[in-house]
Amino acid sequence: MIIDGKQIAQTIRGELREQIAALRAEGKRAPKLAVVLVGHNPASETYVANKLKACAEVGIKAEKIAYDEYTTEQTLLNEIHRLNNDDSIDGFIVQLPLPAHINELTILSAIDYRKDVDGLTPENVGRTVQGLPSIVSATPRGIRELLARYGIPTEGKHVVVIGRSNIVGKPIAMLLMQRPYLSLPGMSAASLGDATVTVCHSKTQDLASICRTADIIIVAAGSPNLVTASMVKPGATVIDVGINRIDDPASPRGYRLVGDVDFEHVAPVAGFITPVPGGVGPMTIVSLMQNTIQAYHEYTR
Ligand code: NAD
Repeated sequence: MIIDGKQIAQTIRGELREQIAALRAEGKRAPKLAVVLVGHNPASETYVANKLKACAEVGIKAEKIAYDEYTTEQTLLNEIHRLNNDDSIDGFIVQLPLPAHINELTILSAIDYRKDVDGLTPENVGRTVQGLPSIVSATPRGIRELLARYGIPTEGKHVVVIGRSNIVGKPIAMLLMQRPYLSLPGMSAASLGDATVTVCHSKTQDLASICRTADIIIVAAGSPNLVTASMVKPGATVIDVGINRIDDPASPRGYRLVGDVDFEHVAPVAGFITPVPGGVGPMTIVSLMQNTIQAYHEYTR
């Protein structure tokens, strides 16, 4: 069965719109997000525009704060301190990547974790590791949501995560191995967690054998066709996070997007599988909006 991330994302957007309309009907203010953009990276500008548009559609107020590429680290830190202390703002993100002269970790570390709706501050990550209430970064949150909405249990299952990045591999591994005593607000199933998790990476030996023992494979490696049909146990769930551009002269753009899974051959073997595009990707902005609403409810009001 194909996991339709586009459809789920659309459903959640509808739910968020209703939640915010209900808040407004009670006379409460709308949640508010700020997005800090430094420089003129065209991809970042597109991502930011998409985030602002999505927020407007569900009723989250969203503000773009733009700085030029010569902005100093100190100016950016001053802005972060201002946003940390601005009670009208529930959450904010600093769009990455930042220009080379600005240290990303210094910037992320300055964000108050209660407003860190990208879930990337060391404090939020540490809180997630310790099982404390935290804001989870967008992609892992989206993956959890997809598993929950499709009723795919993780308790006692063997989950193989391929990739150990700070934004996908490590946090999803951490979330799924945890005792599920903490559920994310708005999650449709609270019982995600309690999995036995194996994390694989570029130095892992015999990835294929490890994958064959998986009930759920989550791959975030950035390597097309890394997961093939012979690596997947019949009926296993395959979550493909990878986004890779492949030359395709037949496509109007000259390329097409593929994931890390040989979708054509794996789909008939898998029980559930996410396509690329249309699987995990559409969940990213939804997760950001859910995180903003979480910050609004838990921390700001
Ligand atoms: P990354 O690019 O920082 O690192 C890749 C990871 O994969 C590393 O930990 C590496 O050890 C591992 N890896 C690479 N080749 C491997 C191999 N042959 N065998 C085993 N492990 C291997 O990771 P990232 O930032 O998490 O991105 C991974 C992919 O996911 C990229 O294609 C990225 O574009 C995509 N991505 C998609 C979304 C989304 O919303 N769908 C979000 C984030 C990242």
